[in-house]
Amino acid sequence: MTSDKANQMRFQDPIDSHCEACGHQERIRVRDILALRATCSNCGGSFRQSGLRMRALIDDTVNFYDAVQIIMSIEENEGMKISDAVVEGIRPWEHLTIRDLITAAECSMAPTIDRRFRAERMVIAAIENVFPSAPKPFDYDAHLHEAISPDPDYEKGYP
Ligand SMILES: [Zn+2]
Repeated sequence: MTSDKANQMRFQDPIDSHCEACGHQERIRVRDILALRATCSNCGGSFRQSGLRMRALIDDTVNFYDAVQIIMSIEENEGMKISDAVVEGIRPWEHLTIRDLITAAECSMAPTIDRRFRAERMVIAAIENVFPSAPKPFDYDAHLHEAISPDPDYEKGYP
């Protein structure tokens, strides 16, 4: 998973689950649902859709925390402030991309001719600093969490 922050997001485990095929209710291990291998003990139906929804929720949360960490790193290292309002004016936290963060940094700097270029260097330096294992070249237009960790292990943290 992208960051340890994701593991702070806890589902009730085992979690009350509702079979879409037969309506049966049962408690299922989060790890099995996230692995998309959970099945209904009554009809054998798959809990895959629940697993995909849960993964999407984790992705959104990771995206949020990744963005916050990158912005905090920029603020700390560059002595500047990137306001929540500027970020939220671009896109919701859960869906921010690297390009969005560059725009947010750019909008938070004094207007100079090389502002965009400097904003890009700041964001890239922050990502390299906070997420040294993020694969390069960076995908500027993917969701942040995908750019940083393209192959997340959804089961990590759910033994
Ligand atoms: Zn069922």
